[in-house]
Amino acid sequence: MSSETLLAARGVAKSYGSVLALRSADVTVGHGETHALLGANGAGKSTFVKALTGVITRDAGTVTLDGAPVTLRSPADGYARGIAAVFQDPALIPDLTVRDNLRLTATDASTVEQHLAGLDIRGLDLDERVRDIPLPFLRMIDLARALAHRPRLLILDEITAALPADLSEKVFAVMARQRQEGGSVLFISHRLEEVVEHCDMCTVFRDGGDVARFAPKEGREQRIVASMLGDRL
Ligand code: ATP
Repeated sequence: MSSETLLAARGVAKSYGSVLALRSADVTVGHGETHALLGANGAGKSTFVKALTGVITRDAGTVTLDGAPVTLRSPADGYARGIAAVFQDPALIPDLTVRDNLRLTATDASTVEQHLAGLDIRGLDLDERVRDIPLPFLRMIDLARALAHRPRLLILDEITAALPADLSEKVFAVMARQRQEGGSVLFISHRLEEVVEHCDMCTVFRDGGDVARFAPKEGREQRIVASMLGDRL
């Protein structure tokens, strides 16, 4: 394995009861690489991310970070190893203010607040209750929380799906900075133009497994769609 490789996941599998969500997934992400995970709804992307971050336990497969095997048992384990994710569901307590949420759940609330200030989100009031805050702002709060861990691998699971263009641009700026600093990004999105513009490599999932890996700028949207649908390339 090249020393350029940060993440190497091999044969990762997961079933939920009788539902085989992930058959066998191989994903390799290099240092300083922005890597997209693509696939139709239900292809297994979120399950892979959850298995990678310790939210769920994988049934099979190996994961190495910089060549060292890792088995994460919780997201906190992931933070300690340099993996932080923004998941599809916001992880904040609705009846508390943002600030109180951060005090309760963040290792270092002031660092999260600094990252939020850096993201410069107009109209976000940290003293408002989470339940009164629009979803796009909640996604940005989760992003600031992930960044506060200074991850080697930042995982963004469909973050832009809920964002207006101005906030998506802020996410792309974060991705670019992460890459400049030698960190890596695993980016999940159904918006193919975003993937072509902002990602160095992509892995396409279909029916619970990886089926293609290429540079999206070379393959462009046509190849991505063909891989997702299973057409012969
Ligand atoms: P999407 O793009 O819609 O987020 P995905 O590629 O992330 O899809 P997953 O959410 O990983 O796909 O789902 C893979 C399969 O596992 C689907 O068939 C889904 O219905 C199933 N699945 C996911 N979570 C659970 C669960 N908690 N219990 C049972 N089945 C699940």
